Amino acid sequence: MAKIQFSNIKKSFGSADVLKGIDLDIAPGEFLVLVGPSGCGKSTLLRTLAGLESADSGTISIDGKKINDIEPQNRDIAMVFQSYALYPHMTVAENMGFGLKLKNLAAAEITKRVNEISELLQIKHLLDRKPKELSGGQRQRVALGRALSRQTPVILFDEPLSNLDAHLRSQMRLEIKRLHHNSKSTMIYVTHDQMEATTLGDRIAVLKDGVIEQIGTPSEIYHRPKNTFIATFIGSPE
Ligand code: ADP
Ligand code: MG
Repeated sequence: MAKIQFSNIKKSFGSADVLKGIDLDIAPGEFLVLVGPSGCGKSTLLRTLAGLESADSGTISIDGKKINDIEPQNRDIAMVFQSYALYPHMTVAENMGFGLKLKNLAAAEITKRVNEISELLQIKHLLDRKPKELSGGQRQRVALGRALSRQTPVILFDEPLSNLDAHLRSQMRLEIKRLHHNSKSTMIYVTHDQMEATTLGDRIAVLKDGVIEQIGTPSEIYHRPKNTFIATFIGSPE
C-alpha cells in the first residue's frame, strides 16, 4: 500500500495558474475522491502524479520517496480515463495483459491474472473479442480490468463512469467499491457524481481555483460544508 504526498505543488499553463500550491496527504490504501468545477485542475493533479505533466514546483512523493523526476512508465501507477482508450487491434485479453507483458511477466502468470480480474468484472466471455465488438459498458469494464490487472500500488480514476448510463454507473460504482475493498491499492477518483463521491470516498477533497478548499470524510463535508460553494458540490443537509 502506498502513501502519497503532494507538497506545495504548482502548475501553470502559460498565464493560467492551474494548481496553486496543493498540499495533500493520502493514507496507504485510502480511497480519496476529488471533486470540483470543470477546469479547476482535477485532471492536471492526477496527471502530475502519473507523470504525464510535470509540476513547476513542489514535491510529490510515494512512501516518502520523491517521484517528480521518475519517468511515467517507471512510477507503477495505473490510470483509468473517461474515454476507454483501449488498443483497437488487440483482443480484450491482450488489452488487459499488455501492461503485464511490458513488465516481462511470464505468459502463464499474465493469463492467470487476466482470468482472475475478468472473472471479478464478469467479462470472461469477452476475452477473445476486439474493442469494437463491445458495448460502452463492456469497454469500460475492460479498461478497469486493464488497470486493475497490473496490481499497482496506486490507481487513478478520471471520471471513469461519466460516459455510462445511470444503471450501469451504479452497478460499476458498487464493483469499484468491492474491488477497492479487496485490493491493497491507494486510489484517487475524480468524479462529478455526488453518489459516487459519498459512497466511494474514505475522504473527499474539494478543489477550487487551484487549491484544496476542504477535505474530510463524506459525512464531514456533507454535514459541515465550509461554505456555500462546498455545499453546492456535495449537498448541504438544509
Ligand atoms: P478539470 O479536470 O478539473 O476539468 P483540467 O485539469 O483538465 O481541469 O484543466 C485545468 C485547466 O488547465 C483548464 O483551464 C485547462 O484548459 C487547462 N489545461 C489543462 N491541460 C492543459 C494543457 N496541456 N495545455 C494548456 N492548458 C491546459
Ligand atoms: Mg478533467
